[in-house]
Amino acid sequence: DKIRAGLAKTRASVAGRMGQVFHGRGKVDEELFEELEDVLVSSDVGVATSTYLIEKLRGRVKKEHIVDTDGVREALKAVMTGELEGDVSLLLAPAPAVLLVIGVNGVGKTTTIGKLAAQLKAEGKAVLLGAADTFRAAAIDQLEIWAERAGVDIVKQKEGADPAAVVFDAVQAGKARGADVVICDTAGRLHNKKSLMDELSKISRVIDRELPGAARENLLVLDATTGQNAVNQAKQFKEAAGLTGIILTKLDGTARGGVVFAIRHELGVPVKYIGVGEQIDDLQPFDPRAFVDALFQ
Ligand code: GDP
Repeated sequence: DKIRAGLAKTRASVAGRMGQVFHGRGKVDEELFEELEDVLVSSDVGVATSTYLIEKLRGRVKKEHIVDTDGVREALKAVMTGELEGDVSLLLAPAPAVLLVIGVNGVGKTTTIGKLAAQLKAEGKAVLLGAADTFRAAAIDQLEIWAERAGVDIVKQKEGADPAAVVFDAVQAGKARGADVVICDTAGRLHNKKSLMDELSKISRVIDRELPGAARENLLVLDATTGQNAVNQAKQFKEAAGLTGIILTKLDGTARGGVVFAIRHELGVPVKYIGVGEQIDDLQPFDPRAFVDALFQ
């Protein structure tokens, strides 16, 4: 299926190397754990997270008296799945919910908003987009193309407009038109963390004022192909904005799917969706079990 196809490269690298580690090995010894840890590190799971996962595996193997390598394999799958589990659903009630989508240019933010809008619409929700990335005219144009593709309305102003003013308009329009979800694009300029923070807190205040007690999500879009850089970006955005979820894109084009574990472990923020292609239906709610299963097959 899509996850397996999407994860082809990550799977080939993880499953292939896991296979080599387990192949022809009868004994569960220290070397096995060390080699498994190496496989995780080289799949972009990150050193700290790999060490943590293998430590958990050791504990489980000991506690459950596992003596064969098949058992270790299953235990590792369980440990990895357990690490990723959590609530991936979006907070959508009371309507209109407001989703702020943040992330640096090129990670797939616009595409992801388009996909998400299409998906929510298919679920019967009235969706409205707010083009609050006013920094580049191209961003507004691109979002408009995706709004059309997804068949949803968009609220925009011209390039250079105050992002908080666009969000204000979008929230007003959302209320007036009975929207279920207002998805706002934002400019993710990380090089100036102070202005990013100021901008996002201004937007936040507008939403609080116009929709007290609104269902809110701050969703960070990250490009999986950037590996550990994605983790660093996530840390900076978490400090600047406060995050409720992560959307990890381009998992179809990379062997670096292990970054999912690093993000979860080092940030404690759930990955809620994954992007597995450029088309409108290439966005999936993140399913830890299917993800880990796909890695091991
Ligand atoms: P933005 O600058 O963050 O808004 O990024 P865009 O949405 O414009 O996407 C940048 C490029 O990444 C485009 O060519 C998209 O088609 C591509 N892209 C976005 N998401 C995915 C994905 O999940 N998989 C793949 N392969 N490409 C993607």
